[in-house]
Amino acid sequence: AHRVFSGVQPTGNLHLGNYLGAVKRFVEMQGRGAETLYCVVDLHAITVPQKPAELRGAIRELTAAFLACGLDPERSIIFNQSQVPAHAELAWLFNCVARIGWLNRMTQFKEKAGKDREGASVGLYAYPVLMAADILVYKATHVPVGEDQKQHLELARDIAAKFNLDFEAPDYFPQPEPMIEGPATRVMSLRDGTKKMSKSDPSDLSRINLTDDADAIALKIRKAQTDPEPLPETVDGLAGRPGADNLVGVYAALTDRTKADVVAEWAGKPFSAFKPALADLAVQKVAPIAGRMRDLLADPGHIDAVLANGAERASAIAEPVARGAYDLAGLLRTR
Ligand code: ATP
Ligand code: MG
Repeated sequence: AHRVFSGVQPTGNLHLGNYLGAVKRFVEMQGRGAETLYCVVDLHAITVPQKPAELRGAIRELTAAFLACGLDPERSIIFNQSQVPAHAELAWLFNCVARIGWLNRMTQFKEKAGKDREGASVGLYAYPVLMAADILVYKATHVPVGEDQKQHLELARDIAAKFNLDFEAPDYFPQPEPMIEGPATRVMSLRDGTKKMSKSDPSDLSRINLTDDADAIALKIRKAQTDPEPLPETVDGLAGRPGADNLVGVYAALTDRTKADVVAEWAGKPFSAFKPALADLAVQKVAPIAGRMRDLLADPGHIDAVLANGAERASAIAEPVARGAYDLAGLLRTR
């Protein structure tokens, strides 16, 4: 049986990269026969400093964004990580399975820690181990993520294999499959075609937030980095043109088409014509999400009830899996 798991951090506004690379695909996976679990990963958020008074609001806001994008508590288990203690319990076992050498190769840690690596939190370093626990505590088989999470998924597979080997339980944890698909698995910053669009980028012009209004979206797309050439005749002509490639990928993902299809339609036309069309499209797709989010946030009690129900259903799956792993490791439980 297939089981899908993925998570998003409640750190700032969701952007078009999160939507096209992750949440839109989460929605598409509902009702295809697989069980789907989607998690607000608040324990990941605190690997960098967060203001406690703002974090609670950010957790509710991301939950509202999930629902506004079309995640359905009837068809998916929607919850926040910290309300299911089995994630942290399994993460500790995995800290003792994973090797320091494996974590030293993780590029996201290097990027997020920056120059002051000694000053980064231990949690930021162990982030990928907790992520492995998030996935494996459900024995999830499929993990829809953006391209930037590929390395962490490989680590999760290595941890699963080493746990199974160390504790002589060959089939205890499955090998989770990353699902990195479609034309927008790595949406780039609108200011710098070599960097991914990110919640933590200090420049708001670098990203389109799901809460941006029509004017902000139009402005950001108008200012988006491209080169002076028109759109190419074929999709191969996007090679070496990161800004152009990025906008075509976004257009394709928003219309559920391929980049080749979009290029065929726009071949030879200038970006001065393409950009306003893209802006209209983005407004048309994004603006309704912000409206629904506002409505949902007017009733925080409903959001909290969704999370409480999700946590209960998630725990029912996760607790026996974590307990089984503790048993395999020889930890004594007498109650
Ligand atoms: P942060 O900068 O705080 O890490 P983020 O924008 O990377 O924020 P996350 O919560 O870390 O957001 O990631 C949530 C999901 O969105 C992950 O599956 C990730 O791969 C995906 N994702 C993040 N940025 C992009 C992007 N630019 N393009 C496509 N997918 C993305
Ligand atoms: Mg990230």
